[in-house]
Amino acid sequence: SREWHLLSRPVGWPKSEDFALVEAEIRQPADGQVLVRNAFLSVDPYMRGRMSAAKSYVAPFELGKVMQGGAVGEVVASAADGIAVGDHVLHFGGWREYATIDAQQAVKVDPDAAPLSTYLGVLGMTGLTAYAGLLRTASFKEGDSVFVSGAAGAVGSQVGQIAKLKGASRVIGSAGSDDKVKLLVEEYGFDAAFNYKNGSVAEQLREAAPDGVDVYFDNVGGDHLEAAIGQLNRDGRIAVCGMISVYNNTEPAPGPKNLARLIQTRGRIEGFLVGDHYDLQPQFVQEVGPWVASGALKYRETVVEGIENNLEAFLGVLRGDNTGKMIVKL
Ligand code: NDP
Repeated sequence: SREWHLLSRPVGWPKSEDFALVEAEIRQPADGQVLVRNAFLSVDPYMRGRMSAAKSYVAPFELGKVMQGGAVGEVVASAADGIAVGDHVLHFGGWREYATIDAQQAVKVDPDAAPLSTYLGVLGMTGLTAYAGLLRTASFKEGDSVFVSGAAGAVGSQVGQIAKLKGASRVIGSAGSDDKVKLLVEEYGFDAAFNYKNGSVAEQLREAAPDGVDVYFDNVGGDHLEAAIGQLNRDGRIAVCGMISVYNNTEPAPGPKNLARLIQTRGRIEGFLVGDHYDLQPQFVQEVGPWVASGALKYRETVVEGIENNLEAFLGVLRGDNTGKMIVKL
């Protein structure tokens, strides 16, 4: 079984020398464990943080050991009650072909109810991130105008569509290519969208949201955040989900220059972590599951094949190669 190890902590953009794909023995499950043959692996921006030694909300990856990440696969050996050979599970033993894991860390999923990969994306962690961040952290309500950055990505595409389905007055998205912008408007039903690489974010946002924004869902940070503060309406809310524009910085990025605008607008800016919102999971599945099944909420996945391409897929997320959730298929 092959698995990816972190060899050294990347400085700036991760380099291939920081990682190695190594051969490891398949360990049979001990009492209470299952052996899973992984079918789909998740690569996510937050993994960049775990490659650094800095203290954060999850422990850094250990050097010389296999990295972790979301994965779904089929149980091929079981020494645990309640999980049988042939069952499919969602778990955290990613970046490897086979994973021996405690059954308590595995959640059974139904491959007949939805495609397996969706448990990593539209019906999984990134979906719940969109749902919780928009509805709880940003206190979205009907009639709000919503701006979301990273809008063609896994989280962002779902934020915009949930806002539309729940009665947003206007949904605006930004993304890094003209094709992605087209997708947002033509397929996902955004009212306006722009390519942040085509010019000033502040100017493009002013044009796209002439009446301002009530909610900004931030996936990017930097000039996007500053532009959104500039367009924030009275009682506006900013949910800080991610700041992908700074993840590879070696120096702290400067903050927004216009924070004083939060005084005039009585604006609120608040960060959140999806891990704190799993109490919403049943409600999320109940509400969003049928939208996905009916096609009312659309999603894309960018699927990269082969464990040997796991690292490239991860780097691809940081570069913007993906449209929707980036998935590695084994
Ligand atoms: P995405 O599917 O959105 O992939 C990341 C995207 O970020 C890329 O496709 C790229 O798209 C865009 N991007 C990369 N660099 C930049 C840049 N410099 N400026 C603007 N956009 C950039 O990933 P996810 O949906 O998984 O995650 C989205 C955000 O949500 C991330 O910031 C992530 O860290 C955060 N997150 C936070 C969670 C939480 O609990 N708080 C949980 C899950 C995710 P493009 O082509 O448009 O540039």
